[in-house]
Amino acid sequence: MTVIPFVNEPVLDFKIQANADKQKAALAEVRKNLGKSYPLVIGGKEVVTEQTFKSYNPSDKDEVIAVFSKGTTSLAKDAIETAAKAFESWKFVPAEERATVLFRAAEIARRRRFEINAYMILEAGKNYTEADADTAEAIDFLEFYARELLRYAGEQPVTPLPGEANQLVYIPLGVGVVVPPWNFPFAILVGMSSAAIVCGNTVVLKPSSETPMMGRLYFEIMKEAGVPDGVLNFLPGSGGEVGDTLVAHPKTRFISFTGSMQVGIHINELAAKVHPGQIWLKRVVAEMGGKDSMVIDHECNVDEAAEAVVAAAFGFQGQKCSACSRAIVDAKVYDAFVEKVKVLVDKIQVGPAEENYQMGPVISKGAEASILGYIETGKKEGRLISGGVKADGNGYYIRPTVFADIDPMAVISQEEIFGPVLAIIKSPDFEESLKIANNTIYGLTGAVYSLNREKIALAKKHLLIGNLYFNRKCTGAMVGGHPFGGFNMSGTDSKAGGRDYLLLFLQAKLMSEKLK
Ligand code: NAP
Ligand code: MG
Repeated sequence: MTVIPFVNEPVLDFKIQANADKQKAALAEVRKNLGKSYPLVIGGKEVVTEQTFKSYNPSDKDEVIAVFSKGTTSLAKDAIETAAKAFESWKFVPAEERATVLFRAAEIARRRRFEINAYMILEAGKNYTEADADTAEAIDFLEFYARELLRYAGEQPVTPLPGEANQLVYIPLGVGVVVPPWNFPFAILVGMSSAAIVCGNTVVLKPSSETPMMGRLYFEIMKEAGVPDGVLNFLPGSGGEVGDTLVAHPKTRFISFTGSMQVGIHINELAAKVHPGQIWLKRVVAEMGGKDSMVIDHECNVDEAAEAVVAAAFGFQGQKCSACSRAIVDAKVYDAFVEKVKVLVDKIQVGPAEENYQMGPVISKGAEASILGYIETGKKEGRLISGGVKADGNGYYIRPTVFADIDPMAVISQEEIFGPVLAIIKSPDFEESLKIANNTIYGLTGAVYSLNREKIALAKKHLLIGNLYFNRKCTGAMVGGHPFGGFNMSGTDSKAGGRDYLLLFLQAKLMSEKLK
């Protein structure tokens, strides 16, 4: 099978009127289908449960996006057993055929692009560009992992030994439990699930309860792309209720999780226990939180740095694991930087995602309460520069909030807030800035603004950060070009969208034959 080399899917420019019009038309179309009910799908069979749950529009909190059947512990067990049966045939399907499913899925996602964006705008509160970047990233994952599988399915180098024919092949692991977050509700869900599936594993996908519709769309796309029944099982429901059953099941071979540190730690502990009937140690891929910094040296263009910090801090309301939540600024340019950030942030408009405001709502009532709590803490820990209050509307709107003069060890400098809150920290010099940037339990993304090559070299050596950028913002990782994953409590450094990623869902089998 020959394929053209991978290239990233371009993100649409919504300043072009035709694109904006298409997006609005798709929103109007999707609106006609809001409130529909969707079943679980186990082994190709639709399962309608008595208990259901709804997903809501965070921009207009009374609006129901969709109603979902709700997985129970007994259905979770069924789903694992079904996936285990499907594994017996899917594992032998040739790599080319499995890759072809992903290539087809990418085509279907392109065709349904504005519809996917529309659901995401309504269910997650992303503006048009953020939603389209998410869909484009999902397409990238499909295209990239299909190619990667073909590479892993090819001949693998082993050192020749006299009188022997030696061969190393990569085979799948088995049943995987896939648990994505809501913040890249399509891209991360698609990437995690498709990587596992293309390798020949079968999957029980439990989407986030905030954004189950994005999982439903992925399920529809994969079905149309030809994934056999039982290979992708769709099990919406509460992570707290079905998560432990899925993770602990003796037939679960691996868990692929992206979400908070707390849940990641819990899954890792539970997965470590060997249950009766279990004949392997489970593999856990856990990508978790971040507390990402941008270091601003005095030898840099402070205007550019301020713009990049504001973009990285407040894009999608700061609800990115890669979001900049701390700006560590050299004392020589500190006051100028704070002033520039204030000017930029004061101007940001907050409103419904559907109307494509620069900033929309945060995801839920719970998120809103937690973020407002951190804002109160910030008011005690530093100087409020901008925001600090809710914004108007029937959604979870919070003004972009900036605090200056924050101590490096302050609560809002140490804990992941996952919302539109930026802490600015004054640093006496570059070396101290690097120490501050390394002073949390996380190590996901970060950026340094400096024009001094020696300082850049120092930062490259000392910063313990999985995705480290220079003279650009710390968000916006591209599949293929910026393999993504962090150190320490940011997770297992799986480097999603990179060339090591599929190995996490494969095991190597060596076959050696003595030649006569
Ligand atoms: P979360 O609350 O940890 O939830 C993530 C997923 O875990 C959801 O599907 C959730 O289901 C499920 N879950 C909850 N309890 C569970 C349990 N006991 N067993 C199994 N699954 C369980 O995280 P989130 O709020 O969705 O996402 C935000 C977090 O993700 C942030 O910390 C962010 O930094 C992190 N994140 C990290 C990366 C990365 O690449 N490192 C990327 C994106 C996001 P329910 O929805 O039903 O509770
Ligand atoms: Mg919602």
